Amino acid sequence: MIQKPIYLDYHSTTPVDPRVVEIMVYYMTTAFGNASSIDHTYGDEAEKAISKARFSMAQLVNASPKEIVFTSGATESINLAIQGSIPHNHQLKIAISPVEHKAVLDTCKALAQKGLVNIIYLHVDSKGNLDLEHLEKVCREGVSLLCIMAANNEIGNIYPIQTIGKIALKYNIPFLCDGSQSIGKIPLNFNDWGITYLAISGHKLYGPKGVGALVVRKGYHLEPIIFGGGHQKGIRPGTLNVSGIVGLGEACRLRQLEMNEDEAAIAIKRNKLQQLLEEQISGLVVNGDTSSRLAGNLHIAIPDIPNSAIIARIRHQLAISTGAACSSGVESPSHVLRAMKLKDNIIEGALRIGLGKFTTDAEIEQAAAILSNTVNQTRQVMVKNK
Ligand code: PLP
Repeated sequence: MIQKPIYLDYHSTTPVDPRVVEIMVYYMTTAFGNASSIDHTYGDEAEKAISKARFSMAQLVNASPKEIVFTSGATESINLAIQGSIPHNHQLKIAISPVEHKAVLDTCKALAQKGLVNIIYLHVDSKGNLDLEHLEKVCREGVSLLCIMAANNEIGNIYPIQTIGKIALKYNIPFLCDGSQSIGKIPLNFNDWGITYLAISGHKLYGPKGVGALVVRKGYHLEPIIFGGGHQKGIRPGTLNVSGIVGLGEACRLRQLEMNEDEAAIAIKRNKLQQLLEEQISGLVVNGDTSSRLAGNLHIAIPDIPNSAIIARIRHQLAISTGAACSSGVESPSHVLRAMKLKDNIIEGALRIGLGKFTTDAEIEQAAAILSNTVNQTRQVMVKNK
């Protein structure tokens, strides 16, 4: 049997928890009804399952079940929040951090090109942390939407959402928080932290791909970006992805029960991996804010060795990445590391490692050996070829 590479790319996606799969299969095969079919019990059962999922998700982020709008994932949720906020005959003035995911940056850029959005970029330092004084100044001067992620998908930084929410509340600015990487890993309190819109993605928390949600604070109105049968009060029409939503709900329920214990165990493994790599690879750099990062994140750089050279050598043994999952197939230097103004040799040598709850101690030992041997061999080859 061919052995699969060790998977350490949990920021890109997580495997679906087998308990989530089990419940999803039931809603695909036995209880496959359309949640909008009110004339028979197949529909009733699907509708009941959706309500349960809504409840589990609401519990995890401390929101009301009524505030949840199901979508196809965080990209759609973010688009709904941003595009749905554009006022009639006016430009949306939006303040965003330059280290946001492309789902935010590209949406804003595309709308700016159409003249619908005016983007104000917030400032980050070399560790990827936000300048909160500048953020407050921007809010004081007036914007119509503030958009900050709760945790970064490359460097793993955790942002002070509670403090940022307070600033947004103080200046009465709607606040979109991209919770894709953080929900189910760190506590997030939609209700108490001044968040107006919260984007969720199923496949980052051991749920399925292609399903997510936007939590929309009561009293806030968004214009729909697609039109159809009036599902979900018309904000996001379309037949509900029942099995996907059920899977997302179950993933949320499990995260609520197991998050603290799992994340503590993941942090120990991540620290071990970092220690091994630091011991075995001279000149290794750890990027981001190591005092406030996701338990599963380890973002390193091996200056002067292009990350592509490492990836090419290890890809059949170890699944790590050069940065965010690349959809275009064209790799470009990370916009996150560029925004942090890191040196070119650090950016070019950057590798993102993501651990999750299925990562084992043995995998950590093996991954450290694979990576450090590869780096040291590549170094020798580069010296010889000089
Ligand atoms: N935001 C962040 C921070 C992400 O990491 C991702 C996924 O890579 C997204 C948004 C997009 O999520 P989805 O894949 O559910 O559209």
